[in-house]
Amino acid sequence: MTVRAPILTGLACRCPRCGQGRLFRGLLTVRERCEHCDLDLKAADSGDGPAVFVILLLGAILAPLVFWVEFGLEPPFWVHVVLWPPLVLGAAIAMLRPLKGVMIALQFHHQAAEHRVE
Ligand SMILES: [Zn+2]
Repeated sequence: MTVRAPILTGLACRCPRCGQGRLFRGLLTVRERCEHCDLDLKAADSGDGPAVFVILLLGAILAPLVFWVEFGLEPPFWVHVVLWPPLVLGAAIAMLRPLKGVMIALQFHHQAAEHRVE
């Protein structure tokens, strides 16, 4: 097994231990086990972290674009209704998967776990 940078492994949506097996089953569902190294991925939980980054990044990118379209081009209202919802939804889904992979890879790399009282 090779040691790979966790961010690159996460962006590639690959297993955080071997970097070979696919991390997701379907669009955003994490597999129970790595198909390559049999790593147990049931405990992998990225929580709301990826969604927060998507909101912040997408908001920073799209908010200026919305203002530019509105005040620069002054289109009719329906242009906003047709343009932004599919763009936001598509970009959010496209960003969510690799960011979720990065969060899980970083959790594995730093051996993050919930606090336990012994
Ligand atoms: Zn693996």
